[in-house]
Amino acid sequence: MNTNDVVNLYNEYVMKTYTRVPLCFEKAKGALVEDIDGKKYLDFFPGWAVSGIGHCHKKVARAVSGQVQKLIHVSNNYYSALQGKLAKKIIEHSFPGKVFFSNSGAEANEAAVKLARKYGHGRGRFEIITMNKSFHGRTLAMIAATGQDKVKQGFEPLPEGFIHIPFGDIEALEEAINEKTAAVLLELIQCEGGINIAPKGYVEKLRKICDKNDIVLIFDEVQTGLGRTGKMFCYQNYGIAPDVMTLAKSLGGGLPIGATVASARFSDVLTPGSHASTFGGSPLVCAAALGVFEAIEEEELLQNAVKQGKYLLKKLSFLEEKYKIIKEVRGIALTIGVELNIDGEQIYEKCLEKGLLINCTQKNVLRIMPPLTVTKTQIDKALIILNKALS
Ligand SMILES: *Cc1c(COP(=O)(O)O)cnc(C)c1O
Repeated sequence: MNTNDVVNLYNEYVMKTYTRVPLCFEKAKGALVEDIDGKKYLDFFPGWAVSGIGHCHKKVARAVSGQVQKLIHVSNNYYSALQGKLAKKIIEHSFPGKVFFSNSGAEANEAAVKLARKYGHGRGRFEIITMNKSFHGRTLAMIAATGQDKVKQGFEPLPEGFIHIPFGDIEALEEAINEKTAAVLLELIQCEGGINIAPKGYVEKLRKICDKNDIVLIFDEVQTGLGRTGKMFCYQNYGIAPDVMTLAKSLGGGLPIGATVASARFSDVLTPGSHASTFGGSPLVCAAALGVFEAIEEEELLQNAVKQGKYLLKKLSFLEEKYKIIKEVRGIALTIGVELNIDGEQIYEKCLEKGLLINCTQKNVLRIMPPLTVTKTQIDKALIILNKALS
């Protein structure tokens, strides 16, 4: 089979829910991927941050191949040591509390919203405040939560009770809060929204306001979690903690897993029978996720993310000085956006042609998120390609 054959298969049998680049990958390792025709690419946007520690990391591969022979799935009506160990690992790296496991980011957010609704239920609190330009997933409730019209069109009526306000605007938040407010849900870095970084002062005030009004503060760390910002979780850059945090993408090292992490005060709100997920937290995906943590800890990947991120940001700021088409370079560690004055799609395509995979979001923001295992040599290679594309 070549790429053409595969494209034909899709045209006939796979729903066209994505705009797809005619490129078919066959294997990958770290930041390198190879397509079915043998062409190699440097992957600086590995699966929307799913392969956050690089493709087919050996610790994940080893954990999965061992576990797949032993036990793949077991019902959540029984116990599995791996789910318990993974929950402990997540809590040790974040805040005292408990974890609910699911299979995706949208599902992790759904559980967070259900938790907040249930917590506020007796007092008539159900409204969830979210931000303009946010992205929270594609289920009906999560497109209602997402602050972008493009994801909602054609699917109305949507679940009620989601209010959108401008990101970073404390006055708008204070105005939106009322006796029906159950939670505030936001990404500290709006990734899909164009790498918009929440200012520190804003997040501190947000925490205070939620405390004062007994509102559940939920951070969607589906994309920023697991080291992408140089800390295990992005909120750790801010010196405060949320009440609930959601994880997915990088957590499973490529396998599908979602996690809703609730701090101690909220960790018994969801009771037996009130929420469930058949596949959630199976031994196989938990083994993979434990492999991800092991890699981050033992290979000092947080330190590498900080170091390489600093280097990449510095080099990108040189490009910013050189090219007027660059409006701004911003980011934390390996979560980086390059905002352009022109349509970014053409730059994306030029990079692709030359063997570099990045992303373009909001039409003019290049999203660059190399794996935590990236090396200086790989960054230099990517910069050569990006420089050529920009010129
Ligand atoms: C990708 C993403 C989601 C949705 O995750 P799925 O696994 O696609 O459901 C939610 N929130 C954020 C911030 C994301 O980046």
